[in-house]
Amino acid sequence: MAAQETVDHKYVYDFAEGNKDLKDLLGGKGANLAEMTNLGLPVPPGFTITTEACKAYLATGRQPDGLAGQIEAHLESLEREMGRRLGDPDDPLLVSVRSGAKFSMPGMMETVLNVGLNDRSVIGLASRAGGNDRFAWDSYRRLIQMFGKTVCDVPGEEFEHAIDDAKRAKGTDNDLDLDADDLRGLVDTFKKIFAKHTGREFPQEPREQLDLAIRAVFESWNAERAVVYRRQERIPADLGTAVNVVAMVFGNLGADSGTGVAFTRDPGSGAQGIYGDYLANAQGEDVVAGIRNTVPLEELERIDKKSYDELLDYMARLEEHYKDLCDIEFTIERGKLWMLQTRVGKRTAAAAFVIAGQLVDEGLIDLDEALHRVNGAQLAQLMFPRFQLDHEYEPVAKGIGASPGAAVGKAVFTSARAVELAAEGEAVILVRRETNPDDLNGMIAAQGILTSRGGKTSHAAVVARGMGKTCVSGADELQVDVPAKRFRVAGQTVSEGDVVSIDGTTGKVYLGEVPVMPSEVVQYFEGTLDAERTDDPLVRAVHRIMTHADAKRRLAVRANADTGADAARARRFGAQGIGLCRTEHMFLGDRRELVERLILASGDQERQQALAALLPLQREDFVEIFREMDGLPVTVRLIDPPLHEFLPPLEQLAVNVAVAQERGEDVAKEEALLAAVRRMHEENPMLGLRGVRLGLVIPGLFAMQVRAIAEAAVTVVRAGGSACPEIMVPLVGAVQELETVRAEAEKIIAEVVGDSGVEVLIGTMIEVPRAALTAGQIAEAAQFFSFGTNDLTQMGWGFSRDDVEGAFFWRYLELGIFGISPFESLDREGVGRLVRIAAEEGRAARPGLKLGVCGEHGGDPDSVHFFHEVGLDYVSCSPFRVPVARLEAGRAAVETQGSDSR
Ligand code: ADP
Ligand code: MG
Ligand code: MG
Repeated sequence: MAAQETVDHKYVYDFAEGNKDLKDLLGGKGANLAEMTNLGLPVPPGFTITTEACKAYLATGRQPDGLAGQIEAHLESLEREMGRRLGDPDDPLLVSVRSGAKFSMPGMMETVLNVGLNDRSVIGLASRAGGNDRFAWDSYRRLIQMFGKTVCDVPGEEFEHAIDDAKRAKGTDNDLDLDADDLRGLVDTFKKIFAKHTGREFPQEPREQLDLAIRAVFESWNAERAVVYRRQERIPADLGTAVNVVAMVFGNLGADSGTGVAFTRDPGSGAQGIYGDYLANAQGEDVVAGIRNTVPLEELERIDKKSYDELLDYMARLEEHYKDLCDIEFTIERGKLWMLQTRVGKRTAAAAFVIAGQLVDEGLIDLDEALHRVNGAQLAQLMFPRFQLDHEYEPVAKGIGASPGAAVGKAVFTSARAVELAAEGEAVILVRRETNPDDLNGMIAAQGILTSRGGKTSHAAVVARGMGKTCVSGADELQVDVPAKRFRVAGQTVSEGDVVSIDGTTGKVYLGEVPVMPSEVVQYFEGTLDAERTDDPLVRAVHRIMTHADAKRRLAVRANADTGADAARARRFGAQGIGLCRTEHMFLGDRRELVERLILASGDQERQQALAALLPLQREDFVEIFREMDGLPVTVRLIDPPLHEFLPPLEQLAVNVAVAQERGEDVAKEEALLAAVRRMHEENPMLGLRGVRLGLVIPGLFAMQVRAIAEAAVTVVRAGGSACPEIMVPLVGAVQELETVRAEAEKIIAEVVGDSGVEVLIGTMIEVPRAALTAGQIAEAAQFFSFGTNDLTQMGWGFSRDDVEGAFFWRYLELGIFGISPFESLDREGVGRLVRIAAEEGRAARPGLKLGVCGEHGGDPDSVHFFHEVGLDYVSCSPFRVPVARLEAGRAAVETQGSDSR
């Protein structure tokens, strides 16, 4: 009794039963077919087998209980509705079997058309089509071809070669010239190919065809290319695909039939209008396969005005309904329009902004939604310099746009040559089949990297993105011959020294120099292009959405800037202060000599002299920055790197000393230097004498910097300006370190500022795991925290940043150990946890403690959302990233609206 009460799990949904929100269960294609059906659009009837059925099948290797019966029942009702039976010899119902996962995976999975045809029903189909034999045999050969290829792994080329042979025999290159007899002959040939590869005859039983096709779609989820694609696109591996069984409609019935694809707006620019391609007398896959030239969709108006008008009407309704750009697949069967697919369409970064703006104007969405629909990665793309392209420049190859930007330079084929030419001031493009860790120096020296192998997670792609360097990977038309120092492409040879241009956004490769121009969006941020005046729709949309982001965001955005010029640019880009002003560059150039004196000082007095000489120089540096930022906070980090970084390298020095000794010159100073370099040598400089440790060991060093900062602030204030310095101590791991530095600093500050009204905050970086874990104690001594997430990642994972990205990150990405380098996007679970603990315990100890982050994570879209969630006050990133951080901070605020208690 009990057993009979258990209802079969529902694995099959009629199109009328689904809707667009059921993508998890029905896949994107199935959910949207259901939605269109319910909107009353002409969708051929059909049903969807759920992703759950697929998952069950993949887990056990057999169809779950109840599935076969449900398919049977839905097929029967489809047959009733169509008034035809599957494979009926006199008047067959044919169906397509189509994959469709939650996320679109273009070209990854399988579809079989015309299921239900066999040696007998092909005759019935012809007579039903008014004796159109050609159509029937064309459909049959397509079935054997698609079924053979996707269900039985028959190599697709064999079928294609057979078609080519048939065309050649006929003396034509147009498939439409093949008549019914030719196609009947092709069917015979195809069946032989099928039998040869599978060891069996092409299945004549329609239900068997259907079952095998359904299984093949299930299994295509785990096909190698699908697995690789998912890993790269961060699509979970366990979603499974749905299967759609759809009554066939025929675009290959003659000149009054055809098939096409359409977009409701231009997915390239976002411009309003009708975009698409149409192909008469063809079946769906012909359009994308490019077997014949399509015509622009507008021409359909001339060919079949009624269908055209209807299509436009449906497109308008879909846009209105989805409130977004939609793309569509349709087929016209003898003047009757059928809708076969729709989805919210992919678009370029520019189109995303423009369309979001338009939809607000059209009243379809509000500004919050517009902000939600664009993202920082798109904005970053719009800020890269671009090629100025016109008809003169034709790409010779297209690879994967692995790291965006436009790069021009002389082709070189080895890392060493790249370094040599770059040292001579030449711009070079490093061309390799695939890069490896030995190429690192060449990659650093090059303007861009071009490879003929590898995808988005190849070594070249990963390392280039980490460096922010333009990269095109996997341009497989290139035949790269490294020993001969040349590559061949499109019948041409490119030798070392020849100029090439690569576009890391589109993946296109050009020979010769293509002129580069700054993007309009950067001109807008720079203030040289006025958004209120321009008629550039992109700039207007960016302006509008940025303004909204600024109004909504809770996180402030600061910039990392070390010079007055950087500070000025950061301000133009909207920075509300400087979150990280590094001081180490202030010890370089002609100041090196003073640093050497400081290091070599034999006593307190000599050391004080060197520091006293550095003081006015440092003060000037800070005056310039405080002036630029006029009243905005400026966080100055006391010197961080180990001092030996400012001395010449050991080998070079040793050689110099030996040579000079040989010549009998006086080498006392060099010898002293050499001894110092030896003494200060460190095996792990990243974990050595640096940061606060330096300040505690070298008397007077931090004191000099603190004095310079305080004096600079007073200078600016006395001149009528305003300065808000924040002194930041690097690499603190214990509160005692900070207390010691702070006690000395406070004395100096009190003495310098006097009654000038200048206020100087003293805080610390949180970048050593121990600091994060003892943040409650450290907060007692710190007026602010700034998370140094680069070091925190480095020490949290035990990764030496300079070594690991080139050495093995590609492998970690390939294995899915992480989806993106933790230096690029914050590792929420591990390093993020340290941030969260420190933020919570710091604020518990000192309510209102100011919290920020400096380091490139501050400009990474996903990390910005995390910092918003954790409740930081600001993020700080390089000036160029400031707009991205502003946008993402706005998006984070809008997305957590309502749930955000802060
Ligand atoms: P993809 O996901 O690769 O686009 P589809 O499942 O959409 O694959 O099918 C491939 C092509 O076959 C499409 O162009 C589609 O329009 C066409 N097609 C699919 N089902 C049918 C059908 N029932 N009748 C006519 N054409 C179809
Ligand atoms: Mg499709
Ligand atoms: Mg650091």
